[in-house]
Amino acid sequence: MSIIVQKFGGTSLSTAEARHHVLKHISLALSQHYQLVVVVSAMGRRGEPYATDTLLGWLEENGNSVPPREKDMLLCCGEIISAVTLCSLLQAEGIQATVLNGAQAGIQTDDRHGDARIVSIDPKRVHEELNRGKVVIVTGFQGQTPTGDPTTLGRGGSDTSATALGVALKAERVDIFTDVTGILTADPRLVEEAKLLRSVSFAEICNMAHHGAKVIHPRAVEVAMHANMPIRVRSTFSEDEGTLVTSMERIRRQVMDRSVTGIAHMPHVTQIQVQYREGKYDHHLQIFKAMAHHQISVDFINVNPSGVVYTVFDHVADLAVDLIRELGHEPRITMDCAKVAIIGGGMNGVPGVMAQIVEALTEADVSILQSADSNTTIWVLVPGVDMAKAVRALHHKFQLHA
Ligand code: ADP
Ligand code: MG
Repeated sequence: MSIIVQKFGGTSLSTAEARHHVLKHISLALSQHYQLVVVVSAMGRRGEPYATDTLLGWLEENGNSVPPREKDMLLCCGEIISAVTLCSLLQAEGIQATVLNGAQAGIQTDDRHGDARIVSIDPKRVHEELNRGKVVIVTGFQGQTPTGDPTTLGRGGSDTSATALGVALKAERVDIFTDVTGILTADPRLVEEAKLLRSVSFAEICNMAHHGAKVIHPRAVEVAMHANMPIRVRSTFSEDEGTLVTSMERIRRQVMDRSVTGIAHMPHVTQIQVQYREGKYDHHLQIFKAMAHHQISVDFINVNPSGVVYTVFDHVADLAVDLIRELGHEPRITMDCAKVAIIGGGMNGVPGVMAQIVEALTEADVSILQSADSNTTIWVLVPGVDMAKAVRALHHKFQLHA
């Protein structure tokens, strides 16, 4: 029998109505004679009782000084509640199901609590339960260290649990169920006319996800890409098959026919410009070493002989500025910027893409603070207040709604 993995995100589990849709998808897959592994996130979003952010808020109200290991122990609870709730609903429908937490499902991680990486998966127990005819519900977003401590995988981690399990189980595919119809040309929260993409390559969605399209976690895509295992991103609330994510080889024609696939955005970044007063060969090195030493990730880097420009997330901007001042420079700071990325596996060598970007943003009266490009992506840094306007203008200019 073939195995499929279905992953349900927080909003897909947060109401009785949503859970009813989840049951329908599970029943349908069983009626098609699949063995089924279901990966669940914690229910709901901030403010809802068992959501991950609610658990974090609870700690904030209670001293907020728990070590990372113990914090992970609390965070693991949200998925357990979801998983057991779903198990109960399935059993009530006469569907045999069992719950495994990350460790029981054989998910080994490193010991970076709060942002652990999966090191290996031993799916023996999952196979055993499947062979007993059960639906195996696995708590997403978690694993355990070699010494047996629970870990969590960071934001969007359940996506990675699902694809990594899919690969380990040699699943036919992984279905990521969520609250949108699939992968769209832009975030529908910003662009009402964003259009569903029927197929995208691993590389395209990986790029979109890295640049802020949080519909699926980039690490989850990378795991699937290495094993060439297809993913579908689709809505919990309909039977539509959504978006197929697959290898470039399978969909080369579609990718090449559209020079631009989609627009992603990432708010809350700060631009830092440092102009050196005197030329000294190791200024660049000192600055980037200081950032790395304090685990500040830098982006959008532009180095020239007399200075450097780069971006960091707003929440580490103060620290970054202090470090630069300690090195004797006075940086120029532009806070609250946004990165907007124009992504297209087929844009390489297509003339005029940058000209269209500049035209769209000029017409929309949005200033470009910085830009960068690779063969499949062009990024622009814009003032944060103009982010939505910029995304809409670019979406329109490249006729992505058509
Ligand atoms: P889940 O809880 O199911 O994991 P997420 O909130 O993580 O759901 O991801 C789904 C959200 O991703 C959507 O509600 C949508 O606002 C956002 N999103 C951002 N970019 C895109 C895009 N290009 N296509 C679809 N959704 C997107
Ligand atoms: Mg998600």
